[in-house]
Amino acid sequence: MKLIPLPAFDDNYIWMLHDGHRALVVDPGDAQPVLQALQHEGVQLQGILVTHHHGDHTGGIDTLRHATGASVFGPALEPMPEPLQRLRGGDTAELLGLKFRVLDVPGHTAGHIAYFCEIEGEAPILFCGDTLFSGGCGRLFEGTAQQMLLSLSALGALPGPTRVCCAHEYTLSNLKFALEVEPDNPRLVAYNAACQALRMQNQPTLPSSIATERQINPFLRSDQPTIAASAGRFDAAGLALNGAFATLRQWKNQYR
Ligand code: ZN
Ligand code: FE
Repeated sequence: MKLIPLPAFDDNYIWMLHDGHRALVVDPGDAQPVLQALQHEGVQLQGILVTHHHGDHTGGIDTLRHATGASVFGPALEPMPEPLQRLRGGDTAELLGLKFRVLDVPGHTAGHIAYFCEIEGEAPILFCGDTLFSGGCGRLFEGTAQQMLLSLSALGALPGPTRVCCAHEYTLSNLKFALEVEPDNPRLVAYNAACQALRMQNQPTLPSSIATERQINPFLRSDQPTIAASAGRFDAAGLALNGAFATLRQWKNQYR
């Protein structure tokens, strides 16, 4: 299986997975990069997986469906370009001979879903849209901090080798904030240096892995005492009232 991040817009990735014949893509906000990649790779589009309703994830669906006849899968609870197969937590989508297990991960949007797939002889794959980013998490547009914390806990509990395929290249700015929260985390310092080197060469920092995110992502680590202490230095009253995760999210919203 070949896994390819197709850059789109300023900082989106449309993930493509293919077996040399058939392909799927995730969150095609734009059809053009997908059509080009299908031609370049010499593969046919079998399916489209969608995580949530935002335009930068859905804008290319109609064009791709018409051009290729691909089946579309998306969240049960969000407005989506029809027709599609609507999925919720516990459902599976079968594509390329693989089973994609659906997880409900509300927070960024109310009906956001993620797709997890185990592949024989390879590390599992997670397509998590705008829920989990490397070093960060999505903004809370439609959900609560409590919902996002639960969603991220579910993703953080997936197997460590799982390849984390996020929909945006936000890593370096997330890591700048993460270092503010946890300046003494040696793994974070090393990961930041590695990601800076990749970006210097215009390479994606993704996919990350669940194991890496558990070590460096403050939003997966808000139960750590050092992180709660940092959150308390930002807003002690907020920490007491809402807890470390909500306080971190609030802090990140206004961090430059
Ligand atoms: Zn979004
Ligand atoms: Fe997005």
